[in-house]
Amino acid sequence: MTEMSTGMPGTAERERQAKALAARLSGRLVIGGKLLRPIAEETFPVDNPGNGEIIGAAARCRAADVNRAVETAAAAFPAWAAMPARERSNLLLEAAKRLEREAEPIACLSSLETGNAIATQTRGEARTMVDIFRFFAGMASETKGKTVPWTPRRFLFTKRVPVGVVGAIIPWNAPLMQTASKIAPALAAGNTVVLKTAEQAPLAVMRIFEVLQEVLPPGVANVISGLGEEAGRALAEHPLVRKITFTGSSAVGSQLLHYAADKIVPVTAELGGKNPNIVMPDADLDLAVAGIVQGMRLFRQGQSCTAGTRIYVHQDLYAEVLRRVTAELGKGKMGNPLDETTQVGAIISREQLARVERYVAMARETPGARILTGGERPKDEALRRGYFYLPTLIEGVPAESPVCRDEIFGPVATVAPWTDFDAVIAEANDSRYGLAAVIWTRDLARSMEFIDRIEAGFVQVNQFSVAEASIEYGGTKISGIGRELSPESMIDHFTWSKTVIINYGTPGV
Ligand code: NAD
Repeated sequence: MTEMSTGMPGTAERERQAKALAARLSGRLVIGGKLLRPIAEETFPVDNPGNGEIIGAAARCRAADVNRAVETAAAAFPAWAAMPARERSNLLLEAAKRLEREAEPIACLSSLETGNAIATQTRGEARTMVDIFRFFAGMASETKGKTVPWTPRRFLFTKRVPVGVVGAIIPWNAPLMQTASKIAPALAAGNTVVLKTAEQAPLAVMRIFEVLQEVLPPGVANVISGLGEEAGRALAEHPLVRKITFTGSSAVGSQLLHYAADKIVPVTAELGGKNPNIVMPDADLDLAVAGIVQGMRLFRQGQSCTAGTRIYVHQDLYAEVLRRVTAELGKGKMGNPLDETTQVGAIISREQLARVERYVAMARETPGARILTGGERPKDEALRRGYFYLPTLIEGVPAESPVCRDEIFGPVATVAPWTDFDAVIAEANDSRYGLAAVIWTRDLARSMEFIDRIEAGFVQVNQFSVAEASIEYGGTKISGIGRELSPESMIDHFTWSKTVIINYGTPGV
């Protein structure tokens, strides 16, 4: 079916509309319900990873802008927190409805600035964003405390209280979903927020906040952009920010914990991953091959914290799996992220592409290592100006190499054969990260053993999917602290508990 016959705009028209939206939102921030410019009127460029063209600019917020945003959120907090939970819920449901109406232009703008393909990533991500808003809107009345039996004629209960102003900081790889994961539970629980976008992908998030202003009271949801060390740090260190919720690299997550330590506020940190994907000798081969390919998360060019980038295949199946996986990896159509037929888009930036190339070069220089497929930019002339890189699978890399140890955050995975179950579990766990882990097997006992022994927060058997509303997500070790997307995570991270004792007849004190 052609785009014409579906009534959808073609690639050029989608691009024109997304660029117009980018131009309108360039250099802007949303504070107190208004689309503003930063006080010093400074900006930095935002480009289209699909062709390197500058498509707009981000406001370069400094401490004064952060202060303005946080003070506005603090002023809006008492009324928002005091609003009956069902009313907050209704407002958030209405916000979800408006976001749903705007989902397609938001997705297109996100494709334009992230390089993620509209057909395989950003359209679905926008749907997930709406779904997360709906889910947490329904949770607004669930911030319940508990009653505790203690002694006669004394009533002991706990009350959950919103924390106040939440400072949220997000990365560029899935900004629509990240925005929803941070702010929907925070708002539902009665907090107000200031979110800082990632440098590379600020504009679609600006649009989300602009839409939210149609419904939410001014000052409840505010967004700024800027550099991490400037705006991000100023937000995290601001004395009125009573909670930090962060998604990004482990290195920056560690810095945020230091900032938070100085003022003693809690931090939720969703950080990096270098996730094992293990194929057992009894695995359903079709499922495992599809799962390895899916697990490389190529529709986001491998820029996914959940990506299965350390693949371990039992020796008996190794040759067969390699043959089939390498054949599959070449199949995804690479191209303009806004083209409906594109399945694999572009890497976020020139710097990130260079990082990917550095790791592949390191592998190439490693004795015994072999690049099975990819290992270079595509030759297609039409892709030359964009930050494209072929899906890459490498074998023979020693476990202690940085190629196996570091999160590369690109379309690159290593693969190794194994024969001993204990040894492969030990190797899977021999990582500073502990985010996701997957196993392919028909053996129930083995899969239960894997679940027991693997050091990861998000564990899957015979499937490779990602978190969504209601599916709790988060890691251990340097992959982070805290959980997201579940009802409990909303209560644990966006409220605090007050213990109350009422004496209604016990003599004495
Ligand atoms: P990053 O850590 O470089 O940046 C993330 C955000 O932190 C950006 O907004 C940045 O401006 C800000 N920042 C940077 N320095 C700061 C500082 N000193 N103080 C305050 N803020 C600062 O990460 P990235 O490159 O944008 O994103 C990729 C990383 O995100 C990967 O490591 C990936 O695994 C991780 N990630 C994790 C999850 C998860 O749920 N665990 C999900 C998506 C991405």
